[in-house]
Amino acid sequence: MDILSHALWTNLLFAEAPLPVRITAIALSVLPDAIPFTPTTVRHFLNQRRPPSDPARPGDPPVGLRFDRWSHRSYDVTHSLPVWLTVFGLWYYLSGGVPWPMFGWLVHILVDIPTHTRSFFGTPFLWPFSKYKFDGISWGERWFMRLNYGSLLLMYLYWAFSTLV
Ligand SMILES: [Zn+2]
Repeated sequence: MDILSHALWTNLLFAEAPLPVRITAIALSVLPDAIPFTPTTVRHFLNQRRPPSDPARPGDPPVGLRFDRWSHRSYDVTHSLPVWLTVFGLWYYLSGGVPWPMFGWLVHILVDIPTHTRSFFGTPFLWPFSKYKFDGISWGERWFMRLNYGSLLLMYLYWAFSTLV
């Protein structure tokens, strides 16, 4: 799913959480994509080529944008359930409590599994034990974008009205 949607859904999921937990969860929902793609995006922007958010077809790599080794390797790490579980366990062990913001990261991985095609940054959720990637739909498909952002709009309207009443 796109990075903005990850942030917006996580904000809803943590709407009732204390603000520091909510902000940390949102950060952890964005970082799995921000870490792999920010260097490439910045370099691309500086080169003034076609922006990465404008692919030729949904799911296609943007024209002129080359994802380097950093993008692919760090994407494996940030989209891995074993890595998530390890960090979760360490955080739990060190803090002595459930690290709730980590669920922002978990939801990112779980949502990405069915919303990425295998050919364009499929989700390597079993890395490093397996390179298996589920061949899902592309979140860039127009119908999915409409469904996703329509659902977000409804949920935010519901949230706004329910907090006002
Ligand atoms: Zn992702």
